[in-house]
Amino acid sequence: MSEGDQAISVIDLHKRFGQLKVLKGVSLDAHEGDVIAIIGGSGSGKSTFLRCINMLEHPCSGSVAIHGETVTMKSDGNGGQAPASRKQVEKLRARLGMVFQNFNLWQHKTVLQNVIEAPIHVLGTPRDEAIATAETLLRRVGLFEKRDIYPAFMSGGQQQRAAIARALAIQPLVMLFDEPTSALDPELVREVLSVIGDLAEEQRTMILVTHEMEFARNVASHVIFLHDGVIEEQGPPDAIFGAPKSERLKKFISSVH
Ligand code: ADP
Ligand code: MG
Repeated sequence: MSEGDQAISVIDLHKRFGQLKVLKGVSLDAHEGDVIAIIGGSGSGKSTFLRCINMLEHPCSGSVAIHGETVTMKSDGNGGQAPASRKQVEKLRARLGMVFQNFNLWQHKTVLQNVIEAPIHVLGTPRDEAIATAETLLRRVGLFEKRDIYPAFMSGGQQQRAAIARALAIQPLVMLFDEPTSALDPELVREVLSVIGDLAEEQRTMILVTHEMEFARNVASHVIFLHDGVIEEQGPPDAIFGAPKSERLKKFISSVH
């Protein structure tokens, strides 16, 4: 594949919290249109990995590049490293749409205000334009009629769909999802997966941490099984789910079904 296709490249990421080594050399390459599913047990480092990609956590070593632009790191004076330039981090985050397990909507803002916040204040989009885009996105996730409602008055599924619209509003190059349905009541999972499935169908580049194995099998182009901070096995979904090689992966798959 050509350089230009490359959406995101993570090389040999290490992260520890004190003595606890959480990521021990994790790499990932996503090309435009790839949907990469990350699976693995609780505590295997999935969230930390996503948080390192957008520099919510600073990797101890290794690199993150979006569209070939690597975030420059410098020593933090504590044996670790930190991004050298705030501007680079802002640019990185403007290219990543992040969706969290617990929605993380601003509770004191309406749905529409949540969606237009970053376009107006981070990207400098004119208000009218931001509202027009937000309304289009809210229509797409089925929440147009809820645009003036506060998050507390919506179901978890609606809140998560609003969070997806908000993440899309900055027109990110890559969407990152951290277990977007695991805080939802079972009957609300489908409506959120359906929105994410639509994005996959549109060939949006996504990295998706999920426990929804059937969904991962259907939408992913590549699956990574993380165990104890390392990639234990990875490959196309049919191989990972249909013919797992590692004993740990076999055990994991049978435990979540
Ligand atoms: P997962 O998302 O796969 O469940 P996490 O990345 O959340 O795993 O966590 C991996 C390990 O790192 C866990 O042992 C967790 O307790 C630890 N951890 C995560 N964040 C922190 C932090 N900020 N400080 C200390 N330990 C952390
Ligand atoms: Mg997690």
